[in-house]
This record gives sequence, structure tokens and C-alpha cells, in this order.
Amino acid sequence: MDNLKEWSENIKNSLTIEQVKDLLFALGGDPAIKNDIIVARTICHGGQSHKLYYYDNTKLFKCYTDCSDTFDIYELIIKINKLENAEITLYQAIQFIINFFSLTVSTENFVFSNEELLSDWQILNKYEKNSSQKKEQRTIELKYYDDKILKYLPHPKIPMWINEGINQEIMDAAGIRFDPVSWGIVIPHYTPDNRLIGIRERTLIKEEENNGKYKPAILNYQMYNHPLGFNLYNLNKSKDNIRKMKKVIIFEGEKSCLKYASMFGIENDISVAVCGSNLTTYQVEMLKFLDVEEIVIAFDKQFKEIGDNEFKTWTKKLKDLNKKYSPLVQISFMFDKWNLLDYKDSPIDKDKNTFEKLFKKRVML
Ligand SMILES: [Zn+2]
Repeated sequence: MDNLKEWSENIKNSLTIEQVKDLLFALGGDPAIKNDIIVARTICHGGQSHKLYYYDNTKLFKCYTDCSDTFDIYELIIKINKLENAEITLYQAIQFIINFFSLTVSTENFVFSNEELLSDWQILNKYEKNSSQKKEQRTIELKYYDDKILKYLPHPKIPMWINEGINQEIMDAAGIRFDPVSWGIVIPHYTPDNRLIGIRERTLIKEEENNGKYKPAILNYQMYNHPLGFNLYNLNKSKDNIRKMKKVIIFEGEKSCLKYASMFGIENDISVAVCGSNLTTYQVEMLKFLDVEEIVIAFDKQFKEIGDNEFKTWTKKLKDLNKKYSPLVQISFMFDKWNLLDYKDSPIDKDKNTFEKLFKKRVML
């Protein structure tokens, strides 16, 4: 095994099942973790069935339908690019993974064993140098949906959300509907210029929650999925306020944006949601376009006690995020040092005082 191979293997083996799930989520794979396995949509060949499995013990994927193949995370990235007619190399796939997870990798201590490897790295370096340029050139093909489908869905009162403090007028403004077929709350996602880019659903069936509370909606046999990393939920509503305030609050879930607008008023809404816990360069660029000077990260509390294992993983993730984006924009964190929130709470899940305290005392690294 050569050094480069070993190095890429190390990165791969260091990825947690949660990280791989986040990646699949961002790629529109609708993943669910079952024990040490992830079951996701077969995005490897552009399929819709949930037959793509990831085994954490081997760090390998297996597609049980069209590909009927076993492959690692780099190969998955290569396959997905191929579907969009983009041929990328293994080195570019590695680079993508490093960027996606904001991994900090030192190549300084790396000893090259031969000339050939060195040239591989030169390719990688060249790629890095050109990547900002390339990003602009690469047009991201986003699919838009006809929002006619939403008009035919009922919008009854949703007591569960009203009880959580979401106002009916905010739900109406967000176009929240109800899907009587799947028994789920329908949440349309729009681009900043109000084009329907995807629709997600929050299931109200308890047993279904095991497969993930939120999923792309399937309405009239069509799945309304979209690549989550290429949009920000609620930015169509909050963009003018964000531009004015030069600040944005980023939540994980859509519901937090609705709560925020209910608590502080539509006219003060500066919130967006990433639908997961990853922030992509694309999303940061979207915000920079609005002249944002500070990004306030208000992710769910992902630890039970300060100092526990989850706390360590979580703070590392936030530090990496800071390291990646703080050269571009001021990053701050609404981080619960005072145990005001429960496990997995969003900072907006308790009362106004709690949110304001977390906001006032937000952490800058
Ligand atoms: Zn496949």
C-alpha cells in the first residue's frame, strides 16, 4: 500500500456513520441509520429505491439494484459526478470529501515515496488553486418543480405545531400543507427568487419516525427531492431582513425558522435552515451575496453533558466549520454552556428569554 492510498484510507476510516449520513442527506439520498448500517436512496445510479446500503464496519457501500456493486465513499462521489457527465479523478473525489467535512489535512509531514505520487499531488494542488475559478464555471443544474401540486393539498390546522408556538399566519405564509395520503406535514422549499426547488414532509406517523422524521415528499407519484446543500430554506422570506441586518441565523430544521418568525415577527426574520448540520461553501456564498457580515450558527444541541464523547465530536465539528468559513465571514455559535436546552433541542425550542440569552452570549472562536 502506498502512502497516498494509506492517507486516503485513513480519511475514509475516520468518518463517522453520522458524517456519512450527513453527506448522503446533502446529496439527496434520504438516508436512515439502522444499527451500524445506513439505508439510502440509490443516488449512485440516479435511482429512487432505498437499496443503497452503507456498512460502517467496512466503510463500504453496496448498491443492491442497478450497480450491484460494492464501492467506497470516493467511488460514490465519482459515480454521482458521472451521472452529471462530469468525469472526476480519485484525487478530486478525495478533495471533495475533505472540503465537505471541513477536514483539516496536513500534507506537510507527508513523505512521498516516488515521483509518480508527487505528480499526483501536483495535480491535486493545481485543482485546489483552480477550484474557486472552477466553481464559478460549473453551472449547477437545479431542477424546479411546478407548485400547482401544492394548491390541491389541504391546509388544516396542525395542532402539534401550533402547540409548539408556530403561528397559523406564519404557516400559511410558508405554504405549509398536509398530505392525507402519507399523513405528513408538507413543507415546500423555495429558492431565494421563489422558485419551488423541493418539497419535504414531516411524518405524523410514530413508527415512520424511525426511518427519519423528515423526507422528500412523494405527491401524485412524483418525488420532490432536491440537493439540500444548494439552497437555504426560508431565504426567500428572510433575504431582505438579512441584507439589512447583515446577519443571519442558521438553524438545522425548517420548523425552527417558522418558530423564529412566530416569536420575533416576519419583519424581523433573519433565519434560514440547512436541513441537517452541514453548511456548504455554496450556501456561504449565497449569504455573502447578501453582504452578510456575521453568520450565527444555531444548530441543535448535540450533546448531553459538557465533556462527554458527543460533546467532543460536536465541538470538533463546529471548530472545523469555523476554521473553514471564518476567513470568509465572521462565524458565531449559539452554544448552550448553561444547560438551558434539552438534548437535541434547537436554540428556539424553549422560550424567548432562553433564545435571547443564547444569542447575546453567542460564542466567537
Ligand atoms: Zn447503484
